[in-house]
Amino acid sequence: MTMTNKTILILGGGIGGIVTARELRRHLGAQHRIIIVDKSAIHSFPPSYLWVMLGWRKPSAIQKPLSLLEKHGIEFHHAAVHEIDPERKVVRTDRTILNYDYLVVTLGAELTAKAVPGLAETSHSFYTLEQAETLSRLIPQFSEGKIAILIAGAPYKCPPAPYEAALLLESYFSRRGTNGVEIQLFTPEPSPLAVAGPDAGMMLRKILEQRGIVVETKKKIASVDASNKQLMFEDGSSARFDLLIAIPPHRVPEVVRAAHLVDESGWIPVDEHTLRTHYPDVYALGDVTTIALPNGFALPKAGVFAAGQAEVVALNIARELHNGGASKEFKGHGFCFLETGNGRAGYINGNFYTKPSPTVTFHEPSVTYHWGKVVFEKYWLWRWF
Ligand SMILES: Cc1cc2nc3c(=O)[nH]c(=O)nc-3n(C[C@H](O)[C@H](O)[C@H](O)COP(=O)(O)OP(=O)(O)OC[C@H]3O[C@@H](n4cnc5c(N)ncnc54)[C@H](O)[C@@H]3O)c2cc1C
Repeated sequence: MTMTNKTILILGGGIGGIVTARELRRHLGAQHRIIIVDKSAIHSFPPSYLWVMLGWRKPSAIQKPLSLLEKHGIEFHHAAVHEIDPERKVVRTDRTILNYDYLVVTLGAELTAKAVPGLAETSHSFYTLEQAETLSRLIPQFSEGKIAILIAGAPYKCPPAPYEAALLLESYFSRRGTNGVEIQLFTPEPSPLAVAGPDAGMMLRKILEQRGIVVETKKKIASVDASNKQLMFEDGSSARFDLLIAIPPHRVPEVVRAAHLVDESGWIPVDEHTLRTHYPDVYALGDVTTIALPNGFALPKAGVFAAGQAEVVALNIARELHNGGASKEFKGHGFCFLETGNGRAGYINGNFYTKPSPTVTFHEPSVTYHWGKVVFEKYWLWRWF
């Protein structure tokens, strides 16, 4: 059978974009073009940012140039996406105009510290690699006082990450023999890991309490008083800090909003099984999307889901082009390691699509799971580049 050559354009070379591109190339004949566009020339692996924050990883150890994808038959365009026009099937970047037959939007979530008055001036964050590095210089100098970890909005990516940060920092200061450091965590969520159901949340809360970490739930930040180093919450309460580590509010990149791809949630609604958007031949996956779960929460923003969705989208586009085979569905399965410090990690896995709520198991922290995360990091950077 002869086939016209098609172009599959992937916007975003993060976790979802890389897996989509590689999987497409695995399934598709060489006559089809696969283009990936990212404003950054380098891919960094976010699960390791926690280790960068503690000085256990140098940034270069968790980075790969996206141009390496070219050796796998994928075209990499180092450019910022300026406009997506799904009606005309065209994308404009700061460098060129790209036409496509299929579009996969995997542009992730943008961090907006400026959305909360005072937050950008007062806080640091391990949610970007640069700031994780800054923290790696500040933390060794910190020996006494209050560290506040603030979840400044929901949804945010990787729901366990702020709790991991609290536990890793507690373990770090205990090992250093520093007794005067108090770690507090503030979240707008009703309970830690609320999306994963009450059992996982309770288990995590128990671990945090055993380690003396105070968690305040239902705390929506209103502003940060920079001169008095105070968090000011919507309920009228306040909390003082010496070092503020924030998870800034998230939103879709402006270019996605301008393309009218989002709904009232502010994210791109997609079919939960196929990741199709309401435009023909346009898919979206990963952090940029929203998928409503039966328990009223949205599917967490996590790399494991972005990668799983990418495999499904790549296979389905290839099957459509090859005119054969049943389509595959994304079924809501995911897993993650949850670092608890002292060389250990817990392991959470399950299915987030089950009714009436996700079926999630939280496996007790162990040395093995910590090493599982280390191996996974190495595997990831080797597997896709
Ligand atoms: C500290 C931390 C720890 C985490 N730990 C885990 C974990 O243990 N397990 C897990 O599953 N997930 C984890 N995550 C979450 C995970 O990193 C994200 O969910 C995942 O990266 C989402 O993939 P994505 O492809 O949707 O978006 P991203 O990986 O964020 O990729 C989006 C890409 O789009 C590019 N982009 C954005 N706008 C433009 C534009 N206008 N033009 C061109 N390019 C653009 C960006 O440069 C980026 O490369 C963690 C995240 C953080 C911050």
